[in-house]
Amino acid sequence: MLLVPCPHCGDRDESEFDYGGRAIDSPALQADLTQWHEAIHLPDSIESNVTEIWFHTAGCECWIKLQRNIHTHEFQNPVISNKGHT
Ligand SMILES: [Zn+2]
Repeated sequence: MLLVPCPHCGDRDESEFDYGGRAIDSPALQADLTQWHEAIHLPDSIESNVTEIWFHTAGCECWIKLQRNIHTHEFQNPVISNKGHT
């Protein structure tokens, strides 16, 4: 069981959330294909901490952007997000 830290509701069971996936720092629309390729297809999963977005479906109904350690599943730096694009 994971406890996901919601900035509004506190630590809540993961079953209250919908997983939104990896948060992507999108390059500017006019960026070249290499920058878009790296942003979309080369995830940072080889690192210990990944940035993800979660939707608190059974709570405040906010998108939350945070970092998760893929080895320990410890969450850090939760912030309310506009669909993961803050
Ligand atoms: Zn919440």
